[in-house]
Amino acid sequence: MKTLTDSHGRRIRKLRLSLTDKCNLRCHYCMPVDQTFMDEQRYLSSLEIKEVLSELVSMGLEEVRLTGGEPLLRKSFAEIIESMSSMGLKKIALTTNGILLDKYFDVLKKHNVFHLNISLDSLQEENFKRITFGNHFSKVKENILKAHELGFVVKINTVMMKGINDHELLDFVKFSEDTGMEVRFLELMRIGYACQEQKDQFISANELIQKLKDSRELKSVTMPLDSTSFNYLTNFGAQIGFIASESQPFCGQCSRWRLSADGILRACLLKNDGLKIADLNRDERLNAYQQLLGMKPLLRPAEVAHQMNVIGG
Ligand code: SAM
Ligand code: SF4
Repeated sequence: MKTLTDSHGRRIRKLRLSLTDKCNLRCHYCMPVDQTFMDEQRYLSSLEIKEVLSELVSMGLEEVRLTGGEPLLRKSFAEIIESMSSMGLKKIALTTNGILLDKYFDVLKKHNVFHLNISLDSLQEENFKRITFGNHFSKVKENILKAHELGFVVKINTVMMKGINDHELLDFVKFSEDTGMEVRFLELMRIGYACQEQKDQFISANELIQKLKDSRELKSVTMPLDSTSFNYLTNFGAQIGFIASESQPFCGQCSRWRLSADGILRACLLKNDGLKIADLNRDERLNAYQQLLGMKPLLRPAEVAHQMNVIGG
């Protein structure tokens, strides 16, 4: 089998697999409160997911990150990770808002899903509610601490927004110092619903770093070439990362594809076009994979209309 390497030498090693576009939160930058979702009939079945992943693994895929929407809302979540656990993937990871995590600790452990990125945009109950339109702060925090205690490798994802939660920057750094968990600050991306407010709320990684330098020494950490974040260790032991997709795009080293819950494979989060692989037979899918290699942009598209929860963030 050919490996999945494009004409710019970028090898596809990672897949973000969206299991559903549904969510039990309504983070204001991600979707409107009255968001409607796709009919579950359109989801790729567990078997179809297994077939596609097996083919991609035979062409060099190494890592799958389950995402959404909220991936833990997918009814067949346990069945899907069980089928993935015997495919020879080097890593299966999960990005989640953490609300339902305690119900899945056992199943995640059983199938070696130890890498959890958990989203938390505020350490203050009221602000969490304001950002997410959800009353789940205590549960999410409790599940984060529990996951860490159980030995999962937890990274906190925090979208930093001017005037919304940037006053909590140091609190998040202290959270990392106190708990030993890595916190990664994401720049607010011009994607879907966020395009409207991005201009007012955007704060760059560099601005955050300058602020932090008032109270912390930052030591740069060496990261893999295709890492989405650049990381630092503070002099008080915090591990912090910055995902500066807007101000410092990393497209030249990108090793990721994305597969939506309804079976659209995309070479880039920020490109509307993708290839529908649902309902294709194996030969047609193999052709689609080769075609998709030519669809990965080298320069970052400025913005995109489709929503993050549909593509898989
Ligand atoms: N529901 C899960 C969660 O929130 O972790 C998984 C899906 S969510 C779309 C994945 C990540 O994308 C989250 O960390 C979220 O904060 C981030 N995200 C969503 N919209 C974003 C935007 N416009 N800019 C930056 N990050 C965004
Ligand atoms: Fe849901 Fe995640 Fe989007 Fe928030 S960022 S609304 S938790 S999918």
